[in-house]
Amino acid sequence: MKKKPLCDKCGSQNLKVQLVTYPMQMGEKQITIGRVTVRKCLDCNHLIPTEKGQEKITRCMINMMDIMMLHG
Ligand SMILES: [Zn+2]
Repeated sequence: MKKKPLCDKCGSQNLKVQLVTYPMQMGEKQITIGRVTVRKCLDCNHLIPTEKGQEKITRCMINMMDIMMLHG
């Protein structure tokens, strides 16, 4: 059975799927990843990546790490 997704911050069910620019903290660096699919909480504005969004974040993180290693 599939559970209805809840905001993991405030527990709200008012979530809306959106494409957003997602901010990530990588070590001391703040990076942003464009066009990530997330569920946005309409109550507290918390962003929760969907499975697809999470895949994109992971891909981007791996790319970033490769670039950092090359220039490292
Ligand atoms: Zn919330």
